Amino acid sequence: MSVLIIGGGQGGYQTAFSLRAEGYGGSITIVGEEPHLPYQRPPLSKGLLLGKQQERHVFLRVAEFYEKQNIRLISGTHVQSLRETPVSYEWLVLATGARNRHLTCPGAEHALYLRTLDESQAVKQRLEAAASVVVIGGGFVGLEIAAAARMLGKDATVIEAQPRLMARVAAPEVSQYFREQHEARGVRVLLNSFVERLEPNAVILRDETSVQADLIIAGIGVVPNDELAREAGLAVGNGISVDEFLRTSNPHIFAIGDCAEYPSRYADGRVRLESVQNAVDQATCVAKAICGKPEPYTAAPWFWSNQFDIQLQTAGLAIGFDQTILRGDPTSNKFSVFYYREGILKAVDSINQAAEHMTARKLIAAKANVAPDQAADAGFDLKSALL
Ligand SMILES: Cc1cc2nc3c(=O)[nH]c(=O)nc-3n(C[C@H](O)[C@H](O)[C@H](O)COP(=O)(O)OP(=O)(O)OC[C@H]3O[C@@H](n4cnc5c(N)ncnc54)[C@H](O)[C@@H]3O)c2cc1C
Repeated sequence: MSVLIIGGGQGGYQTAFSLRAEGYGGSITIVGEEPHLPYQRPPLSKGLLLGKQQERHVFLRVAEFYEKQNIRLISGTHVQSLRETPVSYEWLVLATGARNRHLTCPGAEHALYLRTLDESQAVKQRLEAAASVVVIGGGFVGLEIAAAARMLGKDATVIEAQPRLMARVAAPEVSQYFREQHEARGVRVLLNSFVERLEPNAVILRDETSVQADLIIAGIGVVPNDELAREAGLAVGNGISVDEFLRTSNPHIFAIGDCAEYPSRYADGRVRLESVQNAVDQATCVAKAICGKPEPYTAAPWFWSNQFDIQLQTAGLAIGFDQTILRGDPTSNKFSVFYYREGILKAVDSINQAAEHMTARKLIAAKANVAPDQAADAGFDLKSALL
């Protein structure tokens, strides 16, 4: 009995942990290309950059944990092909994550990226010496980096090609709120702005505007690491294609986390998610399947982002919506946005409302519908929809 896990990130670690928690007694090997113990990525663009969190606190477990649990960890090793894996296996779990999408414009080499611990350390070091920072990309990671830079007293600019921030995942009300909050704290937000080229200390836009920057960081999305699956002839779409049990087209090979595209009732179709919840819950689901207790993966998606002192928490998936309802008053800095498709609640964004987010998660998981007029009424008890 043996399990090989390729990828020593959030999902890879959790698979090994959950296998032992389920009582799996066979051999477990994690092969990861990074030269570190498995660690969490969320602090890399938040507490670690700000110096509020120490590097040792990002690691999911200390080295002794893996020894005690008899989990073999092979770090610093990139698996090139599934035909030559470092160990043989009965079950294989692909937890290879995703990598940064890179700029392709002239001068692209002047930009830094932030995905790994090493990259976070490099950005942190460069931030210390920089007076001005330009972040290309107004998504979660880009905005978190801009907030951290500003909190460290830097002159910070966000350049976004879309007409609003976080356009891929958030309603216009949420985008507007975050834009105002960033601007109120001194971040310069340039929307509808296209990068033409980079110079060592400047970003040049298509309209020839030049934005000075001691440090340029790009956060323009990721690409799933699906090459191993592709080369092995496994089905691949927007990531490695898996079924509802997270099995690839080879039933002995699973794929989880950022690299996997799976069928989700929350998406009304296939989706690839990039979140801690998704990596952890999919890993747990696969561990159960390997232990002879297969169950379809049905966990409700949730996500969070911290920018300045603002916490955004999302329950469900805000994709393909046709109606949004504002609950509460953004000027109070505590409000939610409910997302509907054809009158059915699909997602809830909660801003500085942890308790409401927890209720929203339960609503989404239970497929409980809160009618749009009820959601709009701040006096309506959301929990009553769960009864
Ligand atoms: C800066 C940042 C901030 C984030 N903040 C949040 C947040 O606030 N909330 C949230 O929910 N999510 C957040 N995320 C997303 C979350 O961290 C990811 O969704 C999660 O880490 C995915 O886990 P994973 O195991 O699928 O992939 P990863 O954690 O990326 O791990 C994959 C590992 O596989 C390795 N690998 C790839 N190919 C090979 C190979 N061929 N051989 C060996 N090893 C290989 C990679 O090097 C990597 O170490 C953030 C991500 C980043 C980058």
